[in-house]
Amino acid sequence: MAIERTFSIIKPDATRRNLTGAINAKIEASGLRIVAQKRVKWSKAEAEAFYGVHKARPFFNDLVGFMISGPIVVQVLEGENAVAKYRDVMGATNPANAAPGTIRKDFAESIEANSVHGSDSLENAGIEIGQNFKPAEIVG
Ligand code: ADP
Ligand code: MG
Repeated sequence: MAIERTFSIIKPDATRRNLTGAINAKIEASGLRIVAQKRVKWSKAEAEAFYGVHKARPFFNDLVGFMISGPIVVQVLEGENAVAKYRDVMGATNPANAAPGTIRKDFAESIEANSVHGSDSLENAGIEIGQNFKPAEIVG
């Protein structure tokens, strides 16, 4: 298996409830390494650009409003098979369907306020990391 990097967001529902450390503990317990991290607040334009792939979905406007409702923590995670591994650590999009012990099962409030984002492919990981970090901000 190859060493990969994936892009992660700790979403506003989680920062509001002071869960950044609890989520990072699950990430690190899985063996993934947090090689870049910063707390930011996105503008509407930044959230719309990030979720542009979902523009046609009925929940798009609500999702953008949610993602700019408070601070987020953007991260780069590194490790073996990082893209698929972090999807496993996160759990299913809808926390009602998420496996026990996953971030979303333990912390998500709803299908929208589901605490974390993780890239869905290696290609998208590269794009999302490039949108959010300068190379010098990533220290492996
Ligand atoms: P994932 O984050 O698991 O990759 P998607 O890419 O399908 O899921 O959706 C992006 C985000 O949009 C989700 O994490 C969630 O915050 C929100 N979302 C997805 N489906 C719904 C829905 N049916 N209703 C409201 N929000 C949704
Ligand atoms: Mg997705």
